[in-house]
Amino acid sequence: MADRLTGSTRLVGVIGDPVAHSRSPAMHNAAFRALGLDWCYVPLHVAHAQIEAALRGLVALGFVGANVTIPHKEAAARLADERTPAAEAIGAVNTLSVLPGGRLRGDNTDAGGTLAALREAGIEVAGQRAVVLGAGGAARAVAYALAASGTHVVLANRTPERAAALAASLQPHVAGRLEAIALADAGALQAALAEARLLVNATSVGLHPGPDLSPLPEGVGLHPGLAVLDLVYAPRQTRLLRQAARSGCQTVEGLRVLVHQGALALEMWTGQPAPLDVMSHAAEEGS
Ligand code: NAP
Repeated sequence: MADRLTGSTRLVGVIGDPVAHSRSPAMHNAAFRALGLDWCYVPLHVAHAQIEAALRGLVALGFVGANVTIPHKEAAARLADERTPAAEAIGAVNTLSVLPGGRLRGDNTDAGGTLAALREAGIEVAGQRAVVLGAGGAARAVAYALAASGTHVVLANRTPERAAALAASLQPHVAGRLEAIALADAGALQAALAEARLLVNATSVGLHPGPDLSPLPEGVGLHPGLAVLDLVYAPRQTRLLRQAARSGCQTVEGLRVLVHQGALALEMWTGQPAPLDVMSHAAEEGS
């Protein structure tokens, strides 16, 4: 963040409800400071009924863009004037840019952020199999990112109909095959995991202040050739990641996805390479 806000300070922010807990302001303002940019990133608490007015307000107030978080990502996809192919396929927008002339372009950096976090950890999944737990907004972005990179994705969700609907809606947009199973079907899940290189938790199970639970059904085991990414980043070491480490799996914290999705947004807005170390440090300080 700029030390002093002036008439020329460029504004970006995060729109959500709730938004007070977000680590994005600390992460982006630390990056602006490190880059010597006269920019400021503000939390913007917007209720459901006000989302359309808020998005138009971004343009009217001269914002460069904004991140969008729970529960507004689908509405932002609907209301943006244009969408990148990723945002179009995922049906959710987490990054908006105000284009010259005042049009709003929606993108989804959760998808690219997931791939960047895996790349950073040296995990290559193209041509291999991955199991994604969940069928909500985060699972949509992760499943799209993986399947668009040629990964065969098995979606396992508590409500299996949602996983089947997600697989069907993403399939026309991606090269990799998508299939759906029930999270409670321990046999099918174990068989899918046995052939997989990657397991991603995209459910909210294990999220603070909820109970310290694993999303895996009782008795389902992990093999050492599996890498495990848990999108839940509060706490950083979830029960699933602890279980994975005990099984000899490589583990990746959800905080890495948070940092990379933010870095991609910052690069889109500023046109400058994101200072990853600075952003990581700021994100970790909040944990
Ligand atoms: P969401 O749209 O509300 O979806 C929640 C998912 O969790 C659904 O698939 C739901 O299954 C499943 N679920 C909830 N409670 C469950 C339970 N008790 N047992 C089994 N499954 C359960 O949420 P979201 O936006 O996708 O977010 C999911 C998680 O990802 C959150 O913890 C969020 O913080 C995290 N996330 C992290 C990042 C990052 O940068 N690291 C980015 C985005 C999201 P049903 O369909 O059966 O309800």
